[in-house]
Amino acid sequence: NTLFKYYSKDNIIKYGDIVIAYVTPQSMSSFKVEKGGIYNNRCGSYKHDDIVGKKWGTKIATHTGRGFIYILHPTPELWTNVLPHRTQILYLPDISFISMNLNLKPGDNVIETGTGSGSFSHSIARSILPTGHLYTFEFHEERSKRVRQEFLEHGLEDIITIQCRDASKGFGLKDCIDAVFLDLPAPWDAIPHTIECFKQNKIGKICCFSPCIEQVQRSCASLHKNKFINIRMFEVLTKPYEVRSFSYKPIPEIKLNNNDDIMEVVEPTQTTAIELEPSKVFNLTVSRSATSVRGHTSYLTFADYPKFNDLM
Ligand code: SAM
Repeated sequence: NTLFKYYSKDNIIKYGDIVIAYVTPQSMSSFKVEKGGIYNNRCGSYKHDDIVGKKWGTKIATHTGRGFIYILHPTPELWTNVLPHRTQILYLPDISFISMNLNLKPGDNVIETGTGSGSFSHSIARSILPTGHLYTFEFHEERSKRVRQEFLEHGLEDIITIQCRDASKGFGLKDCIDAVFLDLPAPWDAIPHTIECFKQNKIGKICCFSPCIEQVQRSCASLHKNKFINIRMFEVLTKPYEVRSFSYKPIPEIKLNNNDDIMEVVEPTQTTAIELEPSKVFNLTVSRSATSVRGHTSYLTFADYPKFNDLM
């Protein structure tokens, strides 16, 4: 199944494909399409054989006809929603911000550690396709085995190399890396080892993902000591906006003469922003943001490693 990389040309679901069964944005899961297989959710059962031959995105009903699912093509975004959690994982608000600030693009070579559940790995792989490479490191043996199997099932084995290795002991890579992402309890142990990995003829990019400000301070100290420049820190928070519509009766405009006598009472007329109902009641839609913003995941510390020549 190479579907995480490309859509199949015929756009048709086949046996062996990994699919996303989508009910709502909050309710989706994944399964592999197998001959004679049955997928169950709380609305009923779905035969895999009914899915084969259909186009991606098709709506499939249960046998009772009461429930339905959409069969979606897997993407890194959908995989992040359905993957089996073996660790805490990165979600899209952080993933997109990190990818942009590390300037990930096709052809880049990237180091990631720890791999964890592979949530970010899938997004990195798609960003660097088709010629880039992700070297990802996870020192927990069972986790590294599980995620290696997933990369294989998702057809990512040519793009991702996973190694079971302690990042604080170095990466075994020299002069070939464009960007580094560290999601570790002690990034400062790995930071000095990243320097020899960066391509010598260009600026290297690094990001450390740490939940506590004390970790940020230690990472910044290590980045500074190791001659990284442009050190800066961000926190990505999602700010919800509440949209409300309400109706009100408008006040007529009173036109006065120079002696402040009422000359004219002008009833409101329709404008582009406010719609006048036949009953002369206005409908207005407004939005307001939440007063407090929750959802801290981590602080994102970015820095650049100068070109080798610029250090001379
Ligand atoms: N970013 C990942 C994702 O999106 O799925 C989650 C990473 S998880 C929070 C952190 C991982 O780092 C854990 O699986 C842990 O075993 C691994 N880890 C911790 N210290 C490590 C080290 N020194 N070398 C390699 N991996 C390490």
